[in-house]
Amino acid sequence: MTSPVLVIGAGVAGMTAAIELADSGVKVVLVDRLRTIGGNALDLYKAFPTDDCFYCFEGNRTRPGIRKCFYRSAMTDQPNIDLYTDTTVEEISGEAGEFHAKLAVGPRYVDPKKCILCGKCMEHSQAFEMLSPQCQPQAVVYNPSKAEDGDKKAEEECPTEAINLNAEASEETVKVSDIIIATGYHEMKPVNVEEYGYGTHPNIVTQLELAKMLDPNGESAGTLLRPSDGEPVKRMMMVQCVGSRDERYYPYCSKICCVFALKHAVIATKERENIKVSVVYMDIRTYDRHEQYYREAREDGVEFVRGRVTRIEPRNDGSLDVIVYDSLLDKYLKSNIDLFVLSSALEPPEGASDLMSQLGLKSASGFVAPVDLVAENEVVVGKRIYACGTALGPAEVPESVNQARAVVSKILQSRK
Ligand SMILES: Cc1cc2nc3c(=O)[nH]c(=O)nc-3n(C[C@H](O)[C@H](O)[C@H](O)COP(=O)(O)OP(=O)(O)OC[C@H]3O[C@@H](n4cnc5c(N)ncnc54)[C@H](O)[C@@H]3O)c2cc1C
Ligand code: SF4
Ligand code: SF4
Repeated sequence: MTSPVLVIGAGVAGMTAAIELADSGVKVVLVDRLRTIGGNALDLYKAFPTDDCFYCFEGNRTRPGIRKCFYRSAMTDQPNIDLYTDTTVEEISGEAGEFHAKLAVGPRYVDPKKCILCGKCMEHSQAFEMLSPQCQPQAVVYNPSKAEDGDKKAEEECPTEAINLNAEASEETVKVSDIIIATGYHEMKPVNVEEYGYGTHPNIVTQLELAKMLDPNGESAGTLLRPSDGEPVKRMMMVQCVGSRDERYYPYCSKICCVFALKHAVIATKERENIKVSVVYMDIRTYDRHEQYYREAREDGVEFVRGRVTRIEPRNDGSLDVIVYDSLLDKYLKSNIDLFVLSSALEPPEGASDLMSQLGLKSASGFVAPVDLVAENEVVVGKRIYACGTALGPAEVPESVNQARAVVSKILQSRK
C-alpha cells in the first residue's frame, strides 16, 4: 500500500491540498500546530476579490451544516484524512518516497469527532471554549490554563463522552511518501518600528487587528470603536509598507497589503457611518484585477497622501496627532485621528527556517523557495517535497488554492 502524504499547516492551502488528495483516494496526514485549523483566513471578515465573507470563501466543502450533515465536515469525517491539531513535526528522517516524520501531539481533551457542540460543558467552566463560530473542527476546545472546579462536572455530563481531562501529550511517527509545506505566513508585529508607535498606544493597530474589529461576529459586532475608550472611530489613517520594502526589516514588497488596506478603507467608508479614511503610501501597488478597490476607494472619498509618517503625538482625549511629510506637496501635514492602522509586512512563520534546514530546502527571504523558478515547477521545493500558499511568500487566497491544486496534480501524476 502507498504511504500517505504529510501536509504541514492547515490554512486554506493545506486544507485544499488535503481534501483534494483525500477525495482522489490518497491518504493524508494533516498537521497544524494550533488547536483549530483554517489559518489566517479565519480572521479576515470579507475577502477580495469577491467580497464574500471568509466563512464561505474558505469553501463549503470544509464546513459542516451543509444539507443534513450538521455535525460533519470534510476535515474530520473524510476517512482519508488523519487530522492532528495542536501538533508539530519534531523531526523528519528517511528519504523521498519513505520519509519518517516524528509528530509531537498535544493532549486531545475534547474529541472533535464526538463533540456535537451542545454547549453543556461551557455552562460549567470557562476552560471550555468555542474559539470562533466558524472554527474547524467544529468542536469546543479545552484550555487547561483556565481550569476550574466545574471541569469535572462538564466531563461527567458531556452527552457524547467527548471529554477526557486526563488526556496527555504523545509522540507518534508516521511514514509518508511526500511532504507538502503549507505553513503560511505571520503578520509582523511592528513593535520595533519606532516611528509608528505600535504597542505604545491602544489606538495603533495592524490590518489583521482591524479586520477583526470590522467583523460583525467580533467583540463590537463590527462597529469601529477606539480600543482605548470605546468611543466611535470617526477618522482613521492607514500607513503602507510597514516593515516591507525596508532594509531594516524586510526588503521585499509584501504584495497584498495595498489591496487589503484598500478593501478595509472601502468597507469603513461604505458600510460604517461617517468615517473619514486616509492612506499614507509610497506607491499603491494593486496588481491584477484589484485596481477596482483603488478606484472605489477614491470614489468613496478616501484621501491618499504620498509621503511618510514622521511623528505621532497622543492627545489626552484618546486621539492621536499624526505628522506626515507629503512628498508631492513638499509639506508637513498634521492630522488628528482616532485609529492608526499599520499595513504590516507578511513574514515567514516561526519555525519555518528550522523546517527548511531539516529538509535541506532553499529559502527566499525566509519563505520556502522553489527548486526551479520555471512557472510550472514553482510548487516543487525538493525531491517529493512541495510547498503551496503563503509558505512560498505573500499571496492571496485564490493563488494559494491554485498552488495547492498544482501540488495535488503533481502528486497524483507521480502515482500513476
Ligand atoms: C489583513 C489581511 C487581509 C487579507 N485579506 C485577504 C482577502 O481579502 N482576500 C485574499 O484572497 N487574501 C487575503 N489575505 C491573504 C490570506 O490571509 C492568505 O492568502 C491565506 O490565509 C493564505 O493561506 P495559507 O494556507 O497559505 O496560510 P495560513 O493561513 O498562514 O495558514 C498556515 C497554517 O499553518 C500552520 N502552521 C504554521 N507553521 C506550522 C508548523 N511548523 N507546524 C504545523 N503547523 C504550522 C498555522 O497554524 C496555520 O494554520 C489577507 C491577509 C491579511 C494579513
Ligand atoms: S458537552 Fe461534550 S458534546 Fe457538548 S459541547 Fe461540550 S464537549 Fe461538545
Ligand atoms: S503591497 Fe503595497 S503596502 Fe505592501 S509592501 Fe507592497 S507597496 Fe507596500
